[in-house]
Order: sequence, then structure tokens, then C-alpha cells
Amino acid sequence: VSRTTFIRVGWLIDGSGRPARPDVLLKVEAGLIAGLEEGGEGASHPAERPLLDLAGRTIIPGLVDAHVHLFMSPTSQEDVRRGQLASSYQALEPVMAGQAAALLRAGVLAARDGGDYGGFSLRFRDERLPGTGLRLASPGRAWHVPGRYGRLIGRPPQPDLGLAGSIRAGAAGLDHVKLVNSGLNSLAQFGRLTRPQFSPAELRAAVTAAGESGLQVMVHANGPEPVASAVRAGCRSIEHGFFMGRDCLKLMADLGCVWVPTAVTMQGLSETLPPGDPRAGVARLNLEAQLEQLALARDLGVRVACGSDSGSLGVVHGRSLAQEMALFVRAGFGLEEAVAAASALGAELLGLDGDLGRLTPGRPATFLVFEGPPAGLLQRLGRPERILLRGRPLSFPGDSPPDQPV
Ligand SMILES: [Zn+2]
Repeated sequence: VSRTTFIRVGWLIDGSGRPARPDVLLKVEAGLIAGLEEGGEGASHPAERPLLDLAGRTIIPGLVDAHVHLFMSPTSQEDVRRGQLASSYQALEPVMAGQAAALLRAGVLAARDGGDYGGFSLRFRDERLPGTGLRLASPGRAWHVPGRYGRLIGRPPQPDLGLAGSIRAGAAGLDHVKLVNSGLNSLAQFGRLTRPQFSPAELRAAVTAAGESGLQVMVHANGPEPVASAVRAGCRSIEHGFFMGRDCLKLMADLGCVWVPTAVTMQGLSETLPPGDPRAGVARLNLEAQLEQLALARDLGVRVACGSDSGSLGVVHGRSLAQEMALFVRAGFGLEEAVAAASALGAELLGLDGDLGRLTPGRPATFLVFEGPPAGLLQRLGRPERILLRGRPLSFPGDSPPDQPV
């Protein structure tokens, strides 16, 4: 039985990047947006139909975090950070459950994982996430060159198979492929660059091998050379991209490669390291340099998605996506553009475009509700007042039932 309901909304941000629209009446049928009428206050609706009144409130699409690590805790407790470097699935399952719940509470309804050494997020995706409202896209384990950065989130290719052969052998059940093509950013020396891990030929073969299984490739890369070779090879997205420079941004704009800058990682580090620690100072410089690149990317027309790298030191699952969106705004993005970068573009990256990320007729009535007008949204972002999934309220264990049925 298809039920029709009407929802009156104070302000609607639809995920496309266009300005917020005041006073909208949504018609919802069987969980989908069937109609969208501006000037909702004066608009008529059949009196016998239920009306959810969200006047004075702003709605935005459910959020998508384009880069998380579900297995890793953002804590600064040394014993926990050491312990999670070599834990079993059983030990990390409750940790992942807590972090998945934190994502949902912050309105993150889908996330793209960047990998873990045990492929734990893949198993968690299948065993624990169905029915929760959270969608997770997982690469299982990332690929890195032996002896280079990446052991925490992946493994080296099998020597006899090489990178492309290893990707072919391990593609079953994955949502995407994750490669590590540079080192981490130095916190000892500002702007120190690292060599690419894979050759351009290896990267091209890897993208081809992934494509044979219908998978796209997300690449961890910092600095001009590691980024440029991954973009030229046809990867879908560059993760981090610190210090890549203008030429790389131009190349990404030309080739349609998506950038996920994870600027909040540097904010997390600078706020979590002890005050006076010189590494915190370098992290702050890294952040400022990344915000300059973000402003340039916007000018050049690069498609930029919000991803937090949650699980990094001081980067908390859920609310860190709101912090990343605030950094986009600090770099010159409009509020609606930041919402688009954390919804529509993320949904595209995850292949969930028809289901999540935009509030337009024909798509699900899946959205977050915040008190007040868009002007106050950035301060409230990490804590939606309520979440609707296909027109139905999402409730959490221990919460009292929502007061208004939809
Ligand atoms: Zn990561």
C-alpha cells in the first residue's frame, strides 16, 4: 500500500550545490519524494493526510563520508593505539560497532572505507551493517609496496602476481580498490615529499585489473609525482593530495578525477598532540597549505568530496565530517557547496547516486533535520535533530520513540 504524506520544511538544501530554498512542501509516496513545491506555507495539501511540520528547520541529504577507517580509533591513548595495530576481528568488532553508531548519529548514512590490515571492515559490512541504515563501501585491504607506508591499512602485492595480478586474485566482494602511492606527511619537516610507491605502468595495469571486476581505484597520494601518476593512470579519486600543487589540480579537473583532501586530519593532529609539541605546529602549517589548495581547486573546477579519514589521531567518526565541511567553508566554499561535497558527490563515488545524496523528485526522502535556518547549520551539523530514511524516522537503541509519525 503506498501511503502519501506531506512534509513542510523551513529550508531545503538539496545536495546539488544550489542555494537553500525556503518554505518547501515535500510530497512523499512509498518513501520517495513524489513532489516538491516551493512556497509551502501557502500551498494546499489534502487535510486528511498526515503532515510533518518542520517549519523553522533546515533539511539536507543524508551525509556521505568519502574516507573513513572503521577499524581504527581516533583516541590518543597509547595502549589502545598500539593494541589496534595487531588485533583480531573479535577484539575490534565492538569498536567498529561503536564507530558505526557514531557515524549514524552524526547523520553519516554511507561511508567509503580506506582499508585495514585484516579486511575487518569488509566482514563487518556483511555481518553487522545490514538493516542499520549505514552503508559501507570497503576495499578490504589496501595495497602498498613492501617496506613502504601502508602496513596498518593493507598488504603488499604477492611477488609472483604483481600488483595487477594480486588485484585480480582478490577482487571478489570488494566495493573498490585502495592503493597507497606515497608516504605519510612528515610532522618533523613541513612539506617533505616522498617517492611514489608504484610505477606509472603498474598503476595503469592496476586500474585496468580493477575495472575488469567493475571496481574503481582510490589512491592515497601526497606530493606532485605520486598524485600525477595516479591521476594519469585513471584512478577515480586522490586521497589527501597534500602538496600536490597547481599542475596536479589542473590535471584532475581536466581528467575528472575526484579529490578527497581530508584536511581535518591536520586539525585533529594539531588539537590532539600535546601543546608545544613541534609536530602540532607542522600539522597546523599542513592544514593551512591544504586550505590554500582547496581554494585553488574550487577556482579550477576540481570535483572535491568531503572525507574525514576518521580513525586518524584526533579524527572522530561522525562529527569529523562536519568539521571537514566547516574547513571547506573556511577555504571559500559556499555552505550548499560543502553539503554537495559531503552528499551528492560522495554518493556518486560510492555508486549510491540514485539512493542517497540529493533531495529531488524520484529519489528517497532520506534526510537530516536541523533546528533553525541554514545560517546556523555549520554549528549544528554533527548533531542532527532527527534522521529520516525513506520517509521513516531512524531511531537508535535507548532513544525514546519519535513524537511525530511520518
Ligand atoms: Zn585513510
